Amino acid sequence: MAEARMPQKSIPKVNKVDQPFWEGAARSKFLLQKCRACGKVQFFPRVACVDCFGELDWIESKGTGKIHSFTLVRVPRNPAFKDEVPIYYINVILDEGVIVESKLVGEKKEKVKLGDNVKVVFEQTHNPEIKLPCFELAE
Ligand SMILES: [Zn+2]
Repeated sequence: MAEARMPQKSIPKVNKVDQPFWEGAARSKFLLQKCRACGKVQFFPRVACVDCFGELDWIESKGTGKIHSFTLVRVPRNPAFKDEVPIYYINVILDEGVIVESKLVGEKKEKVKLGDNVKVVFEQTHNPEIKLPCFELAE
């Protein structure tokens, strides 16, 4: 008899452009791209600067920012995430000025308010090479 296949949590599919980002995350570093020509900092990873098409360097974010928006996911599309509901889906404005989509974790997450300070934490996935950047409320 065939065994029912348990759903697995989806994880990012790494490509050439964002590979350095995921390598950084695996080392618990949140990397951003900075344009060599105009200095613009951008996220998510792209092949060139979105303002001037300049070449990019990778810089390490401080990993701190503020809650820009949040919502609660009570019925995840992938049933593998049922054990995490409600999932606090957030948009964070990092101190470097870019917006990041992520999830809020930690024991105090139900106290979240717009504008709260957060800091990045990294969550291990079932793939040992992939850690997900998540955020916790900062003190
Ligand atoms: Zn630029």
